Amino acid sequence: MTDDSRTAALRARVRSLMPRAKADLAELVSYRSVHDPRQFPPEECHRAAQWVADAFAEVGLTDAGLHETPDGSMAVVARHPAPPGAPTVLLYCHYDVQPPLDEAAWDTPVWQLTERDGRWYGRGAADCKGNVVAHLTALRALRDSLDGKDFPVGITLVSEGSEEQGTGGMEAFVPKNAELLRADALVIGDCGNFAVGVPTFTQTLRGTVNVIVTVETLAGPMHSGMFGGAAPDALAALVHLLATLRDEQGNTTVAGLAGDQVWDGVQYPVEQFRADAGVLDGVELLGDGTVSDMLWARPALTILGIDAPKVVGSSAAVQGSAAARLNLRIPPGIEPAQALKALTAHLESNVPWHAKVTVQAEASGAPFRSGSSGPARHALERAFAAAYGTPATTQGQGGSIPLCTVFAETYPGAEIMLIGVEEPSCLIHAPNESVHPTEIENIALTEALFLATY
Ligand SMILES: [Zn+2]
Repeated sequence: MTDDSRTAALRARVRSLMPRAKADLAELVSYRSVHDPRQFPPEECHRAAQWVADAFAEVGLTDAGLHETPDGSMAVVARHPAPPGAPTVLLYCHYDVQPPLDEAAWDTPVWQLTERDGRWYGRGAADCKGNVVAHLTALRALRDSLDGKDFPVGITLVSEGSEEQGTGGMEAFVPKNAELLRADALVIGDCGNFAVGVPTFTQTLRGTVNVIVTVETLAGPMHSGMFGGAAPDALAALVHLLATLRDEQGNTTVAGLAGDQVWDGVQYPVEQFRADAGVLDGVELLGDGTVSDMLWARPALTILGIDAPKVVGSSAAVQGSAAARLNLRIPPGIEPAQALKALTAHLESNVPWHAKVTVQAEASGAPFRSGSSGPARHALERAFAAAYGTPATTQGQGGSIPLCTVFAETYPGAEIMLIGVEEPSCLIHAPNESVHPTEIENIALTEALFLATY
């Protein structure tokens, strides 16, 4: 079979499966699968997990079952052993969802898949039940095209039950079940394209380092009339210190950390970013790089909070101590320990007037970069181009997915690729979440082509 005829046959098959995909998604969205027993009965998660296990068993995977993880959530695992000599692909997704937040802010029923203006609305429609259905539809289409023959590669489906809670059930489960889940290529279906119709690999995730910096100068607050002018002001020292973390253009300037990296994938248009971020008219964006450089390629420091007297209730006093909580996002290429060391040294050496400074480290997370070459990556690039009719691009993601780091550490030689149906207009985690059905269709086709040709 030629590439074109295979693509055409699978495309037609996926298209004919879309009514079924919609019905599947409606069923999945109806489960209020928030892994938080304070808010929702655990049976909701359990029923969703069982549905996922049954659906992937029906499509031909074996040993489909529920596995309890250390945070009490259930992971669904279903497998098709690799034929001799063939590689194994792990397909990841999660069936738990964010709570609805403000139900009154939804224009359609939260737990009922509803079509409006060509999109499908409901909690989890995109994140990540849309990706569950994309995986399922890909396997159905592929199986139907095989005329009773076996899947050509090994397939391991993993659907997590507590991704949105950040309680780490899956991160603990993976290393303990390394043999069960071992794969040559991992398709992490919990991301999305840069925009509808633009095939995109999420190539990097930023890491993070948080610290609390405290500045002390006096035994306690002193009257600003009697002492102000000569008394060392701890709040002024903190303001001075924090100001050294940026230059005039707003670039983050931590001594010892590079800040001139360049993003070589898709560029985030300035006007789109201004609208997405709600930047006020006339206010400038930060930094001397492009938006993509600043978001995905360079370190970025944010002041999360400051301990200082509130405006209302403040008195005429020079402060003796002040503190700030800082968040430093770091791109791949900078390790958290290196970033923490540089930030700590910068703070200690830039405090004015020999004020006492202490830096306390909080949690940190490593950045992630997926490989950009390898047989799986090349097969998925070809599949993307065939499915969408345009070559794939790359974007970064400002946040982190700790599980990706766990997968990378557990399977050092495996190729990890982040894709999915969650493009920006899905409004994941917010009220009125939705998915564009063509994204489910095209991601399913992409995955089916990938599994057929890898
Ligand atoms: Zn997700």
